[in-house]
Amino acid sequence: MGKTYVVVAEVRDGSLRQVTLEALQAVSIACQEGDSTAAVLIGSQTTKLASELAGYVDGQIYSIDHPELEIYNPETYLNVMKSVFERVTPDVVMLGHTAQGRDLGPAIAAHLGAGQISDVIAIEKGDADEVIYTRPLYAGKAFEQKQFTGGAQVVTIRPNNINPTEAAASAGEVVELDYAPSASLRSIVKDVVRKTSGKVDLTEAKIVISGGRGVKSAEGFKPLEELADVLHGAVGASRAACDAGYCDYSMQIGQTGKVVTPEIYIACGISGAIQHLAGMSQSRVIIAINKDPEAPIFKVADYGIVGDLFEVVPLLTQEFRKVLV
Ligand SMILES: Cc1cc2nc3c(=O)[nH]c(=O)nc-3n(C[C@H](O)[C@H](O)[C@H](O)COP(=O)(O)OP(=O)(O)OC[C@H]3O[C@@H](n4cnc5c(N)ncnc54)[C@H](O)[C@@H]3O)c2cc1C
Repeated sequence: MGKTYVVVAEVRDGSLRQVTLEALQAVSIACQEGDSTAAVLIGSQTTKLASELAGYVDGQIYSIDHPELEIYNPETYLNVMKSVFERVTPDVVMLGHTAQGRDLGPAIAAHLGAGQISDVIAIEKGDADEVIYTRPLYAGKAFEQKQFTGGAQVVTIRPNNINPTEAAASAGEVVELDYAPSASLRSIVKDVVRKTSGKVDLTEAKIVISGGRGVKSAEGFKPLEELADVLHGAVGASRAACDAGYCDYSMQIGQTGKVVTPEIYIACGISGAIQHLAGMSQSRVIIAINKDPEAPIFKVADYGIVGDLFEVVPLLTQEFRKVLV
């Protein structure tokens, strides 16, 4: 009998996160003939999203729709997953390597007694058709290739590394499951306070413009925001910029912040400490703007501009505006 792959979809601001489509693509790389795919959509008012998801999954989409599920709570979401697993026994569960996926993945693995491979950036088939997962180590300085030896498996996929899936040949079947709120939750999420008003999600942005201590003040982030607007990118920061109070910690990129893999990463006034590189060194193209030609960031940059960011960034914005807006 074939394997059953289950993708846990993720919703943000009423839309499916792109990493869900990337996880579905990961499944199609791993799948063999006879395998099947299902997806799980948890949230509030999921009807429209469930039919959207059905366009990508040639299998069942378990949709669990309840106001209590609007905000992620590890307990409620795990309870929902347990109810899904009463209907479908997964061999492999795939999630995004997002804040939610990093939390829910291990809980699912513990429940299933499964092994887990996290933060996967590539999937390929070996000579014996075994599935090989690649994940970065040591801040992207090395990579390891892993495979499961058996049993149930949980995999988290780093956003922006695997191409999103295309529409499925035939639409999936939406199965709506009831949700029974639990009276004995150990914690409830009352509210989520958003600290950033960024139009583009930092971890999924194709272009990230980051500011460091060289930005010098909260005001100093304005030119970066203008460039991000023109390029439809997101603004990130180094920890030094966050520590100095120039911006919110939700923008921090690095070892103790977010990990991003955009197509273009523009580092402005960032020296390139190893802890910062841990969060961005896998970006496809790195552009560094720094007035110190010896700054270590230039060692990892594909393109370097030695200059004052307050002169260079507005010039870039001006030129890109001419061609893009
Ligand atoms: C356990 C631990 C975890 C950490 N986690 C993280 C993390 O997640 N993310 C992170 O970023 N750091 C992290 N750090 C901190 C890290 O070690 C560095 O201190 C930090 O990344 C430095 O930030 P920076 O490059 O903005 O500042 P600096 O190192 O001070 O560099 C500022 C740069 O700006 C340049 N500059 C100044 N003015 C201008 C100008 N006008 N135009 C152009 N360039 C200019 C300077 O030449 C300099 O290169 C961590 C540290 C530890 C110990």
